[in-house]
Amino acid sequence: MLTDNITDAEATLEARYGCDTFGIKTMEKYLSKSAFKKMMLTIQKGGKLDMGIADEVAQAMKVWALSKGATHYTHWFQPLSDATAEKHDSFVEPDRKGGMICEFTGKNLIQAEPDASSFPSGGIRATFEARGYTAWDPTSPAFIKRTASTATLCIPTAFCSYTGEALDKKTPLLRSMVAVAKQTTRVLNCFGIEPSCVETNLGAEQEYFLIDRNLYLKRPDLIETGRTLFGCLPPKHQQMEDHYFGSIKERVLEFMTSVDHALWDLGVPSKTRHNEAAPGQFEIAPLFEACNVAVDHNVMIMDVLERQALKFNLVCLLHEKPYTSVNGSGKHNNWSLSTPEMGSLFSPGKTPHSNKLFLTFLACVIQCIDKHADLLRASISKAGNDHRLGAAEAPPAIISIFLGDELTDIINQIKQGGAQCSASKTTMELGVDVLPELPKDTADRNRTSPFAFTGNKFEFRAVGSSQTCAWPMTVLNTIMAEALDEVATLLEPVAGTPAFNKTLQHILKDMLTAHDRVVFNGNGYSQEWVEEAARRGLPHIKTTPEALDVLSREDSIALMEKYGVLSRSELLARKEIQMENFEKLIDIEAKTCLNMLNTIYMPAIAAQMTDICGTVASIQAAGIQAGLKAASQRAEAIGSLYDELPGKVEALTQAIAEGNPTGMRAAMEAAREVVDALEAIVDADLWPVPTYAQMLNIHSK
Ligand code: ADP
Ligand code: MG
Repeated sequence: MLTDNITDAEATLEARYGCDTFGIKTMEKYLSKSAFKKMMLTIQKGGKLDMGIADEVAQAMKVWALSKGATHYTHWFQPLSDATAEKHDSFVEPDRKGGMICEFTGKNLIQAEPDASSFPSGGIRATFEARGYTAWDPTSPAFIKRTASTATLCIPTAFCSYTGEALDKKTPLLRSMVAVAKQTTRVLNCFGIEPSCVETNLGAEQEYFLIDRNLYLKRPDLIETGRTLFGCLPPKHQQMEDHYFGSIKERVLEFMTSVDHALWDLGVPSKTRHNEAAPGQFEIAPLFEACNVAVDHNVMIMDVLERQALKFNLVCLLHEKPYTSVNGSGKHNNWSLSTPEMGSLFSPGKTPHSNKLFLTFLACVIQCIDKHADLLRASISKAGNDHRLGAAEAPPAIISIFLGDELTDIINQIKQGGAQCSASKTTMELGVDVLPELPKDTADRNRTSPFAFTGNKFEFRAVGSSQTCAWPMTVLNTIMAEALDEVATLLEPVAGTPAFNKTLQHILKDMLTAHDRVVFNGNGYSQEWVEEAARRGLPHIKTTPEALDVLSREDSIALMEKYGVLSRSELLARKEIQMENFEKLIDIEAKTCLNMLNTIYMPAIAAQMTDICGTVASIQAAGIQAGLKAASQRAEAIGSLYDELPGKVEALTQAIAEGNPTGMRAAMEAAREVVDALEAIVDADLWPVPTYAQMLNIHSK
């Protein structure tokens, strides 16, 4: 059991950590010295795995998993949805004597062949060649997935088609990590640095809502679509700002603690937990890790949140916008490049030499975000996130970078390129001057920026809470690889020569002059920024369908192909799937909306009318006047809104038939307006579904 043994006297937190994962500690115990060394080379240095050790690793994994009570194993992968996939096989093999033995071979570990015909492939794979392969990712540790009485060995894998095309989110992510590491190494080499390896790091903060399960089950919209399609904002929601970092209620804290223990058992370094801005909204953040491991761990966090919630009769909502008019949920992606020797390469150094390097990486980030803002925007596009981006509580749909005044000033100095800078009367000479001490960014110094520099990392805040980080991180790594490649190509001829500093100064000056329009330190929520961004020529892409266009552009295809991240067909497939996913979701929302109108709201309003009209009739029958006016007026007010509903139902039905997402969204909004107006005046006892006030407040049992 996940939590039952926790009170055992011996079970200290430290000893338990990672007890359900085949991590480094476990491997050291279960593998021979030479096999362990080979695994470590792959995990820590990114070297290719010697497949000769597969049988030994499989045997060790089996012995370990059986000791943990596992009966089954599965290749666990991330298909092109935001879900994970698993098909379980038991360890059972016949022993030819009427009994059984537990078997798990190197072959079982390395590769499996699930029938892939029902996974989204975006046209890559015709159903007649439905074969797909999963291939072990040895850099992400295998783990045990538990329920009350079952244990399954999960092996993180990549998933590709018979012809080798990536059908998952992990494969391109791994390729992008290789690409950015290679280009980073080239740039570091130009500075005379030989890194032992280059890592891409990710720390993903996860926001979510909790709702009492009994209330959840009465909301078909939440069940079907993950968000409320109707509902009035209650008088008190988040305006008192008393929820953010507020004292955590007992029921929620019990839940959070069970989540932390489950995650620690899985070797997920869960670190921070707190109340978020909206009532009923919370956040969990692990420590950062290698990008692919962090992506796997984030998916596991989402899974654990959902499963543990049920144990407390709660439901965890991961949707980007479960409730209109209160904050939505995002997933801040804290991203950096690092080497074991130097730590984060986005860390301003203390010497002129390390400053030079930092400013080079900074210029590359600025260039790549400006040049490919549209690709980055596409990577976070999904129906749920459309409700969030630019909704005056989440980063806008305009991609910009927050640097803070000090760094922005330095950039301006570099742009002046040796001339006196009129504003600050200073210039920055690379390799000679020392950067001024930069104030360490505090958590939310600028919450309004989609891409913020926070001391030694960048925080990509526009990612949606229900997405995996894999695709946005893939895009980010790839566009960064391109910028680094360009710089390395210019620097290599002068590396180690006296001309190096001057050349670098020119390169950075050119890059910053061309791309610093993407830097914005002001309020990203303001209308002025929308106008200013338009003047600067920055794209402002509001909806998913518009955002996805860039994925089929020739320059995007060329970029992904150049760095070996995605082939043309792989990229086009992703566009198709993201688009299809968007259209299907809107269709489901529209049909759920229609259903609720016809079968829940209309009957409830009819009952209300019967009730009030009965009152009117009985007052009249009593032959009195008192109360007649009040009752009649109420019947009129409710009745006239009621009369509007058939028209809304018809319009929505029509929009669904036409299948146009924009039309469906507009028709849903129009219907909602009427229903929400009714909610405000209909008898609370007759209202057929839980209200926002009830759902947003998690009361202790
Ligand atoms: P803040 O609250 O200022 O955003 P935190 O220190 O709480 O910053 O970190 C938030 C997330 O960023 C955590 O997951 C943390 O591990 C991660 N993080 C910290 N340093 C780095 C780094 N150099 N690279 C990537 N992620 C980082
Ligand atoms: Mg943060």
